[in-house]
Amino acid sequence: MNKSIPLSTPTMNGTEVKYIQEAIETNWVSPLGPHVDAFEKELATYVGGGYAAAFSSGTAAIHLALKALGVSDGDVVFCSDLTFAASCNPIKYERAVPIFIDSEPDSWNMCPKALELAYGKYPNVKAVIVVNLYGTPAKLDEIAEICHRHGTPLIEDAAESLGSTFKGKQTGRFGYIGILSFNGNKIITTSGGGALLCDDEEIVKKARFWSTQSRDPARHYQHSELGYNYRMSNICAGIGRGQLGTLDLRVSQKTEIYSRYAAALGSNEFIRMNPIPGNCKPNHWLSCMVLESGCPISAIEIMENLERNRIETRPLWKPMSLQPYYGDCAFVSVANPPVSQDLFPRGLCLPSDVKMTEEEQVRVCDAVLEVF
Ligand SMILES: *Cc1c(COP(=O)(O)O)cnc(C)c1O
Repeated sequence: MNKSIPLSTPTMNGTEVKYIQEAIETNWVSPLGPHVDAFEKELATYVGGGYAAAFSSGTAAIHLALKALGVSDGDVVFCSDLTFAASCNPIKYERAVPIFIDSEPDSWNMCPKALELAYGKYPNVKAVIVVNLYGTPAKLDEIAEICHRHGTPLIEDAAESLGSTFKGKQTGRFGYIGILSFNGNKIITTSGGGALLCDDEEIVKKARFWSTQSRDPARHYQHSELGYNYRMSNICAGIGRGQLGTLDLRVSQKTEIYSRYAAALGSNEFIRMNPIPGNCKPNHWLSCMVLESGCPISAIEIMENLERNRIETRPLWKPMSLQPYYGDCAFVSVANPPVSQDLFPRGLCLPSDVKMTEEEQVRVCDAVLEVF
């Protein structure tokens, strides 16, 4: 029986255990401690500046980013349509109103033209959340310029794109606030965790304050604001410090995986890989393929054949505009059919685990091509 090939699993480099050991020996086994402080500094250094606050998840980081921008009851927030629900669920936590913006074909990310059109329809926007899907940067300069022109702060959801660059600058640094995720399936992991990035130290301090139950500086437990239990634990931060050491290696490994898929699957006239726009260097967190319209084979048939061969795949994110929970929300597109809704049934995510051998990757490609 062939060994199973996973989509993407955590990859330890051996240094994590040293940090965990240190945390245990010094009894810093809590949602604060020296690894948390150091991890925050190392993250800010890695992305090239600003300040970082480490939390228990990327979702928590997005929630606190929205709070920091004052998003509350009834406020309109624009968000990428083709994404994981964690990008927009925090909008609902604050009882604000998400409006979804379609993708553009070049990067599958938020379409600048659709964003402009959305501003025409809904001029009062409290925040914009742009996602770098599967590690590929959005058209971040155009998106940031449009937001700036309309006076709206931008949140860059870089949960999937840590290590990617756009015009030579690290993603996570293009919005007023950036967010990262260290969930188990992301390019680096802390088992579960996230971070908020911002150049304004006051915002970062405030987010840390909320994340530790909003305790006023008093001897007794006093709270003037609603608090959350969102801080990252010192053990998790230790894993993150170890993982950060091989982030660049993971990016190059995942880039090789993408290139091998592109070379092997490119011979088929119906298969395209997820596009790489100019001006950027994606981390290739997940390699995806999409079938040209008119292809006689469906993405589901390919996923089923891979499953029979013990190869794990995943459909593309189902657009938020097609999610039952978000069915009432407005959706703005300049394309017919909308790009996100058109991509969804035609695409799939391929195994992108850095521990996959070249032979295993050949097995994946063979299992894709044999369906035709
Ligand atoms: C993973 C992810 C998140 C949320 O991160 P968690 O750490 O799992 O809470 C947010 N946005 C996107 C696009 C993601 O892929």
